[in-house]
Amino acid sequence: MAKTFEIAVFEGDGIGPEITAPTVDILAQISGANADYALNFTYAPAGAAHYAKTGVALPQESLKLARQSDAILLSAMGLPAVRYEDGTEISPQIDLRRELDLFAGVRPVRIVPGQRSPLKLDGGQAIDFVLIRESTEGLFYSQGRGDVSVDEARETLVITRATSEKLFRFAFELARQRKVAGSGPGKVTCVDKANVFRAFAFFREIFDAEAKRHPDLSADHAYVDATALWMVERPWVFDVLVTENMFGDILSDLGAGIMGGLGLAPSADIGEHHAVFQPCHGSAPDIAGRGVANPFAMILSAAMMLEWLGTRHEIAAMSKDGAALRFAVDRAISDGSGTTRDLGGNCSTQDAATAALEALAAFA
Ligand code: ATP
Repeated sequence: MAKTFEIAVFEGDGIGPEITAPTVDILAQISGANADYALNFTYAPAGAAHYAKTGVALPQESLKLARQSDAILLSAMGLPAVRYEDGTEISPQIDLRRELDLFAGVRPVRIVPGQRSPLKLDGGQAIDFVLIRESTEGLFYSQGRGDVSVDEARETLVITRATSEKLFRFAFELARQRKVAGSGPGKVTCVDKANVFRAFAFFREIFDAEAKRHPDLSADHAYVDATALWMVERPWVFDVLVTENMFGDILSDLGAGIMGGLGLAPSADIGEHHAVFQPCHGSAPDIAGRGVANPFAMILSAAMMLEWLGTRHEIAAMSKDGAALRFAVDRAISDGSGTTRDLGGNCSTQDAATAALEALAAFA
């Protein structure tokens, strides 16, 4: 009998609902055509607009729904004009990371033929690597805890053995899955600044200990500054990169940049028991309400969700559907049938989603 998965959907702010609708529609069509699994979507209110209305950014009921679900599909959240009293932005997605202990921020960086990357890929090299950003500690641990006086400001970075061990285990497991799927050579690179900071030497030591447990995979190190350079000069050398929260924050935007824009960058925040899938971009209030937002980052995040659930619950058809959806988006980008304005075309959000669905039907 088909297993039904409960999906909590956070539509979010700005373009959030506009890109959520076609994504949920695609997921419903895919799962509806498959006898091995079913998806049940429940919408959860949260975000800046919700805060403006009610004074609460992430209601307890929504958090409870997230905890009880099998996976969480989250669109963009936050609005520049809506802030907490202390001036900080409304970001329930960061609260969810902390509440659900989502330590691994997975940011795939892929460039397919025809994709408008600012890189000159004359040799036609395929770019397909994954950046894993630790998402619960590092320098972000200091968020809201900084010490600021008239003459001095201090923020303290925290790296723990327990989280680092979980993080590196996850990174090697992902490299193994990619190797089996033929997506990578099975290599994990620890990105740090171990030549300057003791905390990163500690991080690297834990990485090396984990690497020894995976003789079937290879492991190396790179300094974060050199990694930024190589992501532009020769990104094809990477497979799985794993790094601290702040370094990962910066490198993932660089990754989105080389992919040709935020509209194509998906992500997942994964813990041992929960996972949130959401596009890397924000709520883009400058284009909200016009039906022109690029839905691909959100649709690719949904594809990651299917692959994650399929692997976790050993439902091959579900993983296969996730991969097929990813290929369908690649096709809609490569052949230009889904080119939205941010990519230099004139497709609407719905046109782009339809192009992905048509490409998917062509595979079937
Ligand atoms: P946040 O801090 O919340 O992540 P941000 O400051 O990075 O947000 P975004 O909301 O991501 O900002 O928008 C940055 C720019 O990218 C804007 O000009 C926006 O219109 C554009 N943009 C973001 N997402 C998309 C999308 N899906 N389709 C088209 N343009 C987008």
